Amino acid sequence: MSITVHEVTKQYGSQWAVNGVSFEVKEGEIAGFIGPNGAGKSTMMKIICSYISATSGTVTVNGYDVQRQSKEVRRHIGYLPEHNPLYEDMYVREYLIFVAGLYRLGKLTGRRVAEMIEATGLGAEQHKKIGRLSKGYRQRVGLAQALIHHPSVLILDEPTTGLDPNQIIEIRNLILEMGKSKTVLLSTHIMQEVEAICRKTVIIDKGVIVADAAVGDMQRKSESGGCTVIVEFSAPLHPSDFSQMENIGQLHPLEENKWLIQSKKGDIREDLFRFAVDRQLAILELQLQEKSLEEIFHELTSRK
Ligand code: ADP
Ligand code: MG
Repeated sequence: MSITVHEVTKQYGSQWAVNGVSFEVKEGEIAGFIGPNGAGKSTMMKIICSYISATSGTVTVNGYDVQRQSKEVRRHIGYLPEHNPLYEDMYVREYLIFVAGLYRLGKLTGRRVAEMIEATGLGAEQHKKIGRLSKGYRQRVGLAQALIHHPSVLILDEPTTGLDPNQIIEIRNLILEMGKSKTVLLSTHIMQEVEAICRKTVIIDKGVIVADAAVGDMQRKSESGGCTVIVEFSAPLHPSDFSQMENIGQLHPLEENKWLIQSKKGDIREDLFRFAVDRQLAILELQLQEKSLEEIFHELTSRK
């Protein structure tokens, strides 16, 4: 495991920002950390990066304890904080040389800075002041500073918030490219982002984990354990024709031959095939409707 978070709590005064959080991110995995504003994402990420300490609980990064071995943790981790604070008056290249200095890269500095400028596509902007860059390019600078010491674990706090759609796609592609050889934990409140780049997702709400699963598993598993399909038969049917099918939770006619069917439990597609064969009907179309993560997120975080 690259990141293990065990029973972590963080209290600010009387408020619990994070309350008994546990999850893991495996080596090489890109995990999405989703939750509404104020859920505790940034707090949890700062604890993982050993920026702030937890009130209780343990976190390890590549086996190092964030509390007791924070130097090792910082060496292994790259962090892009929320709002990406940068020195606006510094030039891009100058800033990256400065960051390389913080990591004591010494003789490696020139090579690493050049490598980062190349990898993040900052070539044409390297002699500009950071304050003059567009938000998308500032995020590239943020990614370059997070990666300059070749960390194996990358923590990205809302890396695409505030970007326009083109910039979002560019930054996502960069993350996907960089994520090929790294473990990535990325926070967001945008569900499509998780669907686009993450294999695993951890959903947090009010400081508590409400879901933790592979993205595909979560989409297949609706709250009732049922599934929704759209089916088109070769002939019209009446709702009463379905009365023998026990696994039907809901039945909605869409067109004369087309139905939206929600099962009570599990996959209903095989039952529908048998149903059609028994009536000598053909199935012209059969679609399993996966729930969008957006719907699942809403279901999980809107419960009081
Ligand atoms: P998220 O990143 O998911 O939006 P945060 O981790 O920033 O959530 O915040 C979680 C909760 O903790 C919020 O209610 C926030 O107001 C509170 N909080 C965050 N940082 C501090 C702080 N330094 N002092 C007091 N409360 C804080
Ligand atoms: Mg935040």
